[in-house]
Amino acid sequence: MSTSRHTPPSDWPGMEMTGMTRLTDDVYFGWLAKEANPTFWHWCKALEGVPPERKVHDGCWVAAGTSAHTLVSRDPLHLEPSLLWKCCGLHGWVREGKWTSA
Ligand SMILES: [Zn+2]
Repeated sequence: MSTSRHTPPSDWPGMEMTGMTRLTDDVYFGWLAKEANPTFWHWCKALEGVPPERKVHDGCWVAAGTSAHTLVSRDPLHLEPSLLWKCCGLHGWVREGKWTSA
């Protein structure tokens, strides 16, 4: 399955998202039909350089839900507390629909 550096996948079986929105080149979010909170894609720098055959798909996009976060506002998106992906250390806040690096 081919994925682009510029666009995270939005049509994986079981992961079909609507409203895919870009926050930065590395962070997008979208909405799964069955989830109240958004699901994020981030371009995981920890996967850069990993051979394709050792990855789930071609590319470095990693999906993660935010069910443990408080959805303060859906539009513009505001989540609390900050988002932290331990895989690569990407960390920041989403407030007023914007990403702010921590
Ligand atoms: Zn990561």
